[in-house]
Amino acid sequence: MSTVLNNLEPASLWKHFAALAAIPRASGKEAAARDYVLALARRLGLEATQDRAGNVVVRKPARPGREGAIPAVLQGHLDMVCEKNEGTVHDFDTDPIRLVRDGDWLKADGTTLGADNGAGVAAALAVMESEDIAHGPLEFVFTIDEENGLTGASDFPLRLLRSKYFLNLDGEEEGTLCIGCAGAINTTARRKVTLQPAAADAGWRLRISGLQGGHSGIDINKGRGNAVRILGRMLQVLTGRLPVAVAELTGGSKRNAIPREASAIVALDSAHEQELRSLVAALEADLKSELGAFDTGLRITVSAAPRPEQVFG
Ligand SMILES: [Zn+2]
Repeated sequence: MSTVLNNLEPASLWKHFAALAAIPRASGKEAAARDYVLALARRLGLEATQDRAGNVVVRKPARPGREGAIPAVLQGHLDMVCEKNEGTVHDFDTDPIRLVRDGDWLKADGTTLGADNGAGVAAALAVMESEDIAHGPLEFVFTIDEENGLTGASDFPLRLLRSKYFLNLDGEEEGTLCIGCAGAINTTARRKVTLQPAAADAGWRLRISGLQGGHSGIDINKGRGNAVRILGRMLQVLTGRLPVAVAELTGGSKRNAIPREASAIVALDSAHEQELRSLVAALEADLKSELGAFDTGLRITVSAAPRPEQVFG
């Protein structure tokens, strides 16, 4: 084993971690890592299968005396996020990750380490190889292409599994066991709009800002405002009360970030300016009280904008 990992326990886990670090395994390019797992299964005389996507399942019988235990899956993903620091020379298709020890920390030299999910895969392989851990019937699942949208997992044929319990080894926090998951979905919505000349004599920019945002996975339960939803609600209120026509909409920046900002350009006669401003102010007050202490910085502004020539019909 690499000397960097000398004396680390459990030795078997770190042996596999070092071996995986030496194998290039960007998302979609997991073949060598998959071969490593399959070779180990073969060496141990364990049943292994590969599905069409390239995910691997290995089965290990129970330890003697544990045959009656409930069968469980240990699952991890083979690929890793491949990022390097500016100035680091590293080809993620061919070069091994260079491991370095920094006190109690194990790090990579100028690149991502691949602990996500190398640590989980190495732990599973250590259990697979173990002869001294009391366990029931185990199934090991190694998926591909997790970091690109879990395509390996979503293509996985569940009928390959017989277990009752499923342990995902791709955690985020030490000492924390996650017992449920809401899942995620990417949605692309398209709507054909017709454009027509704006009838109003003025344009206005409505802008939502000051929200906290956050990760749409781990922060979604924190009661924070979503600028895109707030914009939708505001336009629904405004179009119901005033002859507002929408010319432009924008909001959010990433599919996995809660939108912090959003804005719209609308056309509306300047005679309605006061009504517009007071409707927006009332809505801002409502939203502030709904968000309460969960998201305190919400601001909705109305400012004059160049009169749009065309609006949505
Ligand atoms: Zn992961």
